[in-house]
Amino acid sequence: MQTPAQLMTDPVNLSWNDDGSVKIVWGDAHESVYAVAALREKCPCATCKGTHGAPTTLVRQSRGGLPIVTGKNPAQQAAVTVKRTDPVGGYAIRFTWADGHDAGLFSFRYLRSICPCPTCSAAAAS
Ligand SMILES: [Zn+2]
Ligand SMILES: [Zn+2]
Repeated sequence: MQTPAQLMTDPVNLSWNDDGSVKIVWGDAHESVYAVAALREKCPCATCKGTHGAPTTLVRQSRGGLPIVTGKNPAQQAAVTVKRTDPVGGYAIRFTWADGHDAGLFSFRYLRSICPCPTCSAAAAS
């Protein structure tokens, strides 16, 4: 038996909406819808973390030489397009972006913590 806390971070379904957003249904029946651009913005990898809060036109080269785009730029579209998702070790999802960036592992716990729905946003703000 899983505890309610475990169910909260145990995705039972991940699907893509027509508008390109990702929907995750959790074990406690909560549904989270993530805009892909918002996910990229919250990418937990060290490279992306370093760009948070930077000017929106900033383009950086990652160690792999791939552009990390954080603003309005022709390459931005690639940075916010997900090519594939892979489950990682039963605790996380790896998103591979169209610009080749795949360093960010989104743990289920992290994904649940950044759920943008009004209920979770209110809880996170309080
Ligand atoms: Zn990243
Ligand atoms: Zn939520």
